[in-house]
Amino acid sequence: MNNKLSGWDDTIVALATPPGVGAIGVLRLSGSKAIDVANAIFPSKNLHLQPSHTIHVGSIKWEGEVLDEVVVSLFKNPRSYTGEDVVEISCHGSPFVQQRVLDACMAAGARLAKPGEFTQRAFLAGKLDLTQAEAVADLIAAQTGAAQKTALHNIRGGFSTVLAALREQLIRFSALIELELDFSQEDVEFADRTDLKNLVRQILDQTNELLQSFRLGNVIRNGVSVAIIGKPNAGKSTLLNALLNEERAIVSDIPGTTRDTIEEVLNIDGILFRLIDTAGIRSHSADAIEAVGIKRSLQKRREADLVLYLFDATDTTPDNLLEATHELEREGIRHLLVGNKVDQETGGNLKFGQNTLMIAAKTGMGIDTLRQRMVAAVLENASLGENVVVTNARHFHALQQVQQSLQDVLSGLDANIPGDLLALDIRRSLHYLGEITGEVTNEDQLDFIFSKFCIGK
Ligand code: GDP
Repeated sequence: MNNKLSGWDDTIVALATPPGVGAIGVLRLSGSKAIDVANAIFPSKNLHLQPSHTIHVGSIKWEGEVLDEVVVSLFKNPRSYTGEDVVEISCHGSPFVQQRVLDACMAAGARLAKPGEFTQRAFLAGKLDLTQAEAVADLIAAQTGAAQKTALHNIRGGFSTVLAALREQLIRFSALIELELDFSQEDVEFADRTDLKNLVRQILDQTNELLQSFRLGNVIRNGVSVAIIGKPNAGKSTLLNALLNEERAIVSDIPGTTRDTIEEVLNIDGILFRLIDTAGIRSHSADAIEAVGIKRSLQKRREADLVLYLFDATDTTPDNLLEATHELEREGIRHLLVGNKVDQETGGNLKFGQNTLMIAAKTGMGIDTLRQRMVAAVLENASLGENVVVTNARHFHALQQVQQSLQDVLSGLDANIPGDLLALDIRRSLHYLGEITGEVTNEDQLDFIFSKFCIGK
């Protein structure tokens, strides 16, 4: 392993629980001196003499003063998260007390950990590969069942296994080519060109499949932005309320989104639907100036991944509808047509196309079906099963490079280029695969990846 990376030898400490008042707060120490540091402030027992995976009750004492009564958990190397000696101190959850215990740890020889440094050490110790480490951050950020499931699958090595299989096939291919190079004087072809092409095509197919899963990955990771548009009085704010009634999601900060335009988030079947410009919906039902409404909705639907076009079925003809939605069709905007107020006698009589869903926002009729259609519209044919889904832009870009180099191999085979050139392209694709799992890394890249973690993880 790479011991040259900065800070490898020192012992780090950080608060692993969120800042603020809680029942307990956990401080985590990791490094070759973690037990020495803990012993210096926890005089109750000599932790060096205690077995790994044990917990101990006692007090934290520094410079003659008792700071807290704590529980200490001991994980001796290599059986710990980081692979180093790890001591976790559960203090009382006062930020003041936690800070004093943290200060005592630092006075006793630990230094404050950088964001993600515990996980970075776990990676450097070979406990996790890079995709697994990144999945740890994803799991911490997970806000829905789908995000949780994907992250857990990847922590357990789901993505790594798929990549390892790709890698193995590529190595097999390159072994065949290199064998040929060894015998190049004799002008033999060990590797049948048709077989080689088939093998590369197969690997390309798998790479393409992974690349395609990124669309779903994005949905899982970032959610889907939805705009409800339609004429004034169509029932948009009524629909908004009906949707929000049951499914309002528990969310904190969603990475990569601007909070000021997003006010409401739904969690439907584990997917986050962010309803954009809900303030606009609410205000212009009171102040219904159509021109303003149309301008606003034009803007909205460009920002939206999915548009719900709502119309009042009691005063809309199929021709009106066609006209109103012509532009959505033309611009290829993903949308659902929703006819409202079918509870009224004049509503629901008209025949709209099969693609049009009829609801009554006021009574809740059809809302469940609408939810299902919203999910179906973003999942298309994909399912949130055990399949590996690429959720990370870094992985996506590296896979694009793999794809490009494999395509170069294919055209090389077609053009009958010499084996040593083919071998170069193959090595290039292996390089990019290695970047994903972290077999190929540089310090800057690692620092960048781990800096996005929170402190203490
Ligand atoms: P917006 O301007 O598109 O936001 O429309 P609103 O949600 O303010 O609704 C306009 C009017 O239609 C209100 O009086 C609602 O009570 C009524 N409305 C909305 N949905 C329904 C429905 O499903 N059935 C009936 N009968 N009236 C509805």
